[in-house]
Amino acid sequence: MNKKRASVITVILFAIFGIIKLYPELIYLHKFKYNNYTFYSNSAIDSNAVIIINTTNKLVLNDFIDCVPNQYDVFLCNSYSLFWLHTFLGRKPSGASDMITNNIYIANADCKKNIACGSIKHKQIKSNERSLESVIAHETTHIMLRNKLGIKNYRKLVKNENWKIEGVCEWVAFNGTEMNVNQMIELIKSKSYINNPWQTYRLYRFAVTYLIQAKGYGLEDIITYTDTFEAILQELTSINSYTK
Ligand SMILES: [Zn+2]
Repeated sequence: MNKKRASVITVILFAIFGIIKLYPELIYLHKFKYNNYTFYSNSAIDSNAVIIINTTNKLVLNDFIDCVPNQYDVFLCNSYSLFWLHTFLGRKPSGASDMITNNIYIANADCKKNIACGSIKHKQIKSNERSLESVIAHETTHIMLRNKLGIKNYRKLVKNENWKIEGVCEWVAFNGTEMNVNQMIELIKSKSYINNPWQTYRLYRFAVTYLIQAKGYGLEDIITYTDTFEAILQELTSINSYTK
């Protein structure tokens, strides 16, 4: 292949990639719009999406985050290749939000059953299954935090104190769902969460919930909190009561 032909092919590939990045809806066959969310998928979208969207809005529209609702596009990839093409992430995450377009990508989703999980086939990843609404609420919170904090501050937090961002997103995603405090404290003591992203995310949520419930912190207090994640875990192992 001569150089000219190679560079023409490269330009075409980049153009295709750019179009998919900016207009991913072009490669999806089905669309379901309700309220402020539009779902895209290559298989028919179950009407249970209405309930999922209503619950997601209940989770994300709260006084703690204090953001006005926006329009969100959610792409139900259901394909490892598609999810990777949109996000460049591997098989484990169940969702991601794009920093440029604010599109939300879900690796694997079953709208009817309200289930989301990573890109690996369902049977192998029972442990990372969670409700679809919790994943969409988590990713929507990422977008809301980016808008609220500004992209520069947000990126700084992701780089240096990611537990705050992920902890707040998890707190929103599971707001109202009880946590087993003793189980969480055992998890900290056993250190089995280390190198286990699913367990680590549970502890991010645990730490942020503790700051909100036991210390009465607001979002600004958490963002500017100076203790490390490890220091909070240490503190949590010695508490007698979780609430104020
Ligand atoms: Zn996240």
